[in-house]
Amino acid sequence: MHKIEHIGIAVKNLETANELYTKLFGTPPYKIESVESEGVNTSFFKSGPNKIELLEATNDNSPIAKFIEKKGEGIHHIAFAVDDIFAEVTRLKSEGFVVLNETPKKGADNKLIVFLHPKSTNGVLIELCQEISV
Ligand code: ZN
Repeated sequence: MHKIEHIGIAVKNLETANELYTKLFGTPPYKIESVESEGVNTSFFKSGPNKIELLEATNDNSPIAKFIEKKGEGIHHIAFAVDDIFAEVTRLKSEGFVVLNETPKKGADNKLIVFLHPKSTNGVLIELCQEISV
C-alpha cells in the first residue's frame, strides 16, 4: 500500500460544502462527479499534494445517508493508493481483514476501489484505490 490517495468527508449538502471548501483551500473542486451505483455525488479538491473527496447522498439508501444518520457529517473514509488492487484484496483477506466488495468496483475519479469493513480496521473505513489506466 502506498500514500494516502485522498480522505473522504461525508456532507449533507455538496453545493454548500463545495463553497466552504473552496474558501478553505482557495481553489474550487477540480472534479465533480456522480457515482449512481453508490448513490453519491462527489467533488474533489487539491490542497498541495493532498486530495479531499466530499460525498453527498443522492438517496436515503446511500451508504453516505446512513453514515450521516448514524454519525453526522465528518470524515467517512481514508483511501490508500495501491498498484495491484486484486493482489491486495487477496493479501488482506489472508491477513483476516473483512473486504466489503471482493470484486473491485469503479469509483469516482477514474479509480477501481475496494472497501475494508471498519469492524476489522479499528472503526475506520479504509478504501483501496487503483488508477484505471486508459
Ligand atoms: Zn474515496
